[in-house]
Amino acid sequence: MQLNQYAWLDEPKAKIGANLPPAMLMHGLTGVGKRTLALHLAQSALCEKVSLLQTPCETCPSCRLFQAETHPDFKILSNDESDASADDVRASTNKKTKQVIGVKTVRELGTFCYTKPHRGHAKIIIIDPADNLNQNASNALLKNLEEPAEFLHFILLAKHSESLIPTILSRCLKVHVKSPELKITSSWIEQQSSHDHIDEHKKELAIRLSGCAPFASTKLIEDVDFFEHRDKILSLLSQTPINAFSLAALCEKIETPVIQRIFYPLLHDLLMIGLGGDMVFHKDKVAEITRIKRSLTPKRITHWQDNFNDYLKSANHPLNRRLALEALFLKWPQT
Ligand SMILES: [Zn+2]
Repeated sequence: MQLNQYAWLDEPKAKIGANLPPAMLMHGLTGVGKRTLALHLAQSALCEKVSLLQTPCETCPSCRLFQAETHPDFKILSNDESDASADDVRASTNKKTKQVIGVKTVRELGTFCYTKPHRGHAKIIIIDPADNLNQNASNALLKNLEEPAEFLHFILLAKHSESLIPTILSRCLKVHVKSPELKITSSWIEQQSSHDHIDEHKKELAIRLSGCAPFASTKLIEDVDFFEHRDKILSLLSQTPINAFSLAALCEKIETPVIQRIFYPLLHDLLMIGLGGDMVFHKDKVAEITRIKRSLTPKRITHWQDNFNDYLKSANHPLNRRLALEALFLKWPQT
């Protein structure tokens, strides 16, 4: 795993220094490259030709085992199916993943933590995401962190450092993996893309919605469903009067995080233009937004936003999702 294409990961790597600490927490947005950096570090530490976390050689037996995902001194605990994938994008808008890494998974580390390395001097465990460790899993992990074998290194990945319990946090070196600036993410996407032309509006929207996280932005640009859903919702909201039942029927088919990702930027931009400012997320949809805005006042928009937030709180309740959505859209402020 080479890092030369990911210049923004140099800074967090430099913070780690020349040796892996017993435990480290890398935190940063989804799709910023935490998994990529963690895999790079793990392979470097296990490489038989280089030392001090230099770039792994890619040719020694250890690097080959690592590339084949069969290294006996490396483990990755994850809640997604493709847990050995090279990047940390789980920003997928329609793939369902389990939310929690449970105590059973952590306990399954078992003897791995206490038996000596098969090949070199290190054993490495990546936990991704560490945000979702439940209480029992956190306690089981804490046991390993409290009495770590000298060869053992934990790399925890999380979106927010606060989501870990303080007793785990206090044992970790904390490294923030920051998103690059919009311009840098944008030119990185251009370089990576196999397409001749990427729609500039779409690209900028994807970057802004992903907080400039490069992998997440790329993923979102390619997410045809997301843009289709967004177009349909904007088109239905542009009608006068809006049809709450059609909107509810459409939104019922869309996962809640996607709905959230469509409506928060929409409400933001409606408020911005209501207050005389500029749109940020809908520069490609000026006509639709103008129609949707109609005579909506900022006050009415924020009022509906409160209703939307209430809906989100109960959105994972499997009963009556359609009815809840209908009730929500019936409250859409019409003139
Ligand atoms: Zn090597």
